[in-house]
Amino acid sequence: MIKLKGLHKAFGRQEVLKGIDLKVEKGEVVVILGPSGSGKTTLLRCLNFLEQPDDGEITIGSTRVHCNHVSRQEILAIRRSTAMVFQLYNLFKNKTALENIMEGLVIARKVPREQAEQTSRQILAKVGLADKGDAYPSQLSGGQQQRVGIARALALNPEVILFDEPTSALDPELVGEVLGVMKKVAQEGLTMIVVTHEISFARDIADRVIFIDGGVIVEQGPPAEILFHPREERTKQFLKRIL
Ligand code: ADP
Repeated sequence: MIKLKGLHKAFGRQEVLKGIDLKVEKGEVVVILGPSGSGKTTLLRCLNFLEQPDDGEITIGSTRVHCNHVSRQEILAIRRSTAMVFQLYNLFKNKTALENIMEGLVIARKVPREQAEQTSRQILAKVGLADKGDAYPSQLSGGQQQRVGIARALALNPEVILFDEPTSALDPELVGEVLGVMKKVAQEGLTMIVVTHEISFARDIADRVIFIDGGVIVEQGPPAEILFHPREERTKQFLKRIL
């Protein structure tokens, strides 16, 4: 479903991803853990070409690209099969919750407005915000805004949703409602790659946890193994700091 082979990315002389190999199955929920600056966000951004990788191969669904000679068409195909949920919800401030969700459908996917509105209302209900369609972001709590962010990603019906620390900008009491929506999405069988420090989410929802440090995958496996019985010293040290 998703396959990365030898993914490399440098910023100037700093090599941030040093050859990442990764396979994610359809419907799998993968949590990426790792210290700050280890390359987690860069990995997600390379996956949908928000950053251009320097080398390697990316396969998502039926699209396979070689990063060092990729066409505009291929980048668009990869972008169409992914959706991203950002740390700071990134909603359009001058659009309502409903319009924020509709935007991608109407502009990028060319879905007729009426149909886009119907789909968007259904998805708003799914994230528990059926009554907030007409609210502007400033009228919503951080947790509600992030749920709109997730709804916007869901509306695009992507092959995979990439979550980049979706709860780290939230007040602690708002984290639960966002994780609850993510849990629901996971249970519906969507493929998810989630960068998060929320160990409870990793423990309860992830199929696999990947620990990244210094731009390489240090170890990976089932949550119970990686979180509670890691083999590698670097993983042990990191978990000691955050648990
Ligand atoms: P993480 O998500 O694990 O905290 P990042 O992927 O954000 O790590 O960053 C990894 C390294 O790459 C950091 O040292 C960061 O400063 C650097 N970096 C990230 N994005 C850029 C960029 N656009 N330009 C230059 N350096 C960057």
